[in-house]
Amino acid sequence: MQIEGRNDHGHAARRLAGALPSGRAKDATARLILDNSLPEGAYTISLLDNRAVEVRGGPFSGVIYGVEELIQRAGADFDLSFLENAPVRGEPGLAYRTFWTWDHSTNWELSQIGQQEIGVFNPFQKPPQGFLADYRRLVDFCSRNRIAAIVIYGFLRDSHGGVEAAQELCRYANERGVRIIPGIAIGAYGGVYWEGNHRYNLATWLKANPQHAAQMERGVGFQIADLAFPLNFPHSDYTVSACPSAPEVIDWMEEAVSWLAETFDIGGINIESGDYGVCGCARCQQRRANDAEAARRADVHGDYWSHTDMAANFPRLYRAAKAKKPDLWIYCEMQWDNLLEPVAAEAQAALPHGAIYQHTANRSYWKRLRTELDPDYVAALPTQPNVLRCQFACQWNGDERTERYAFNARSFADMASRGYELNMQGLTVWGEPSDYFATVELSYLAFARFSWNPRLTWEEFVAQDVAPRLGGPQAAQRFIALAEELDASASLPVERLAAMQKEALSMATSSDAAIARRWLTLTDQIGRRLYMGR
Ligand SMILES: [Zn+2]
Repeated sequence: MQIEGRNDHGHAARRLAGALPSGRAKDATARLILDNSLPEGAYTISLLDNRAVEVRGGPFSGVIYGVEELIQRAGADFDLSFLENAPVRGEPGLAYRTFWTWDHSTNWELSQIGQQEIGVFNPFQKPPQGFLADYRRLVDFCSRNRIAAIVIYGFLRDSHGGVEAAQELCRYANERGVRIIPGIAIGAYGGVYWEGNHRYNLATWLKANPQHAAQMERGVGFQIADLAFPLNFPHSDYTVSACPSAPEVIDWMEEAVSWLAETFDIGGINIESGDYGVCGCARCQQRRANDAEAARRADVHGDYWSHTDMAANFPRLYRAAKAKKPDLWIYCEMQWDNLLEPVAAEAQAALPHGAIYQHTANRSYWKRLRTELDPDYVAALPTQPNVLRCQFACQWNGDERTERYAFNARSFADMASRGYELNMQGLTVWGEPSDYFATVELSYLAFARFSWNPRLTWEEFVAQDVAPRLGGPQAAQRFIALAEELDASASLPVERLAAMQKEALSMATSSDAAIARRWLTLTDQIGRRLYMGR
């Protein structure tokens, strides 16, 4: 095949060439063109003549997404008949489609020791090269499924390669049209350099500047209403915080953010205020002067953050990052379960237009949002644009099993589709466990498909994406039924589990290795429950 535009679109050209068996489509031509008039990620695939095709793509990821669709539709024979009547176009329904991760519990390369599944103050326990091994696989999945970005808390850590590994990850992801977005907190979560002896590491800086340590209102940590068990936060260098009223702290954060934006070819920064406690020093109390917010921290809501602190300090960091790279996606975390009960509206009205305002919801709060939230209210918010972040369908919600390996596809589909109707412009979900597990893989695919096209129906999704991966429509219905039955109850009769295992195992003998793997992972989930006797 002749590929025009190979130099500017190296990854797309390699994907296209690699998808065709050698010798096939020798007479065909593909022309790859960047078109800045299209939105980021959008594309048009057109037939030029019967053996020539043009893929025109919007900035950063459009040509890559277009080539992925071309590979899918044209098949190994490079049959272009699907383009005969009209060009095929693609454009994201939700502009901001992002996976959220911590480095220590992102497990996409399963052939290595050191996996963890929950926590925010964890050491990294894999071999040092494990960080890149995990995230390269995650980037590949995103690139092929039009997931635009990956937030990474723990982006910079001495024990997994520090600056060099982080730079290499950015290079790898940019080549594939995926934005890498380090997650940071203002005076919390390690500052900009999460762990190591570095000038932008918070514990390192506070040892030299102990007068700026936060005077916490109460103990370090947080608890989650929809999680069945209390979380544990032993004190360490990971748990320190700085006072956000000290000008020296924000000067240092601003300098660190500038360094982050110029040292790494990142695609954005996710900024939060820290969610494990609030400084209660006299200066902070006077500056905040927000009784409603303080009451929420003290009452049943148990908020572990301050919206007023965030509104006061976010704009400086936003401007510092944008000054280095105007194209960055700067997420502003609006924290959990408060969109219907704002307590810092006045302070938030001054937040800069163009940051991405991220509203996080636990499962029970999402049930309220999806019916009580008014789309006109979202459109009229002073903060624009707004996106949702799903804090369930992951390790942070559910009973003792958690929802990390559950079949979460319906939750992601609902949050994308209903969020779109509510004038949300993006969705962020957790993306830590590997797509090796079929329940996880299908959930991620639902996130990818419904956030790209929020008008997709469940039936279309099952027919197009689930059925071919499981052995047909009937098999897809059975898989979903078995997975949802397993998820719905922490205890099932062993007789029922034995019957479920038998049914899943019969499908796992498929001669197609990928289909067999999907049923085997479900069989194993059932088999573990059977062995535990519940
Ligand atoms: Zn303070």
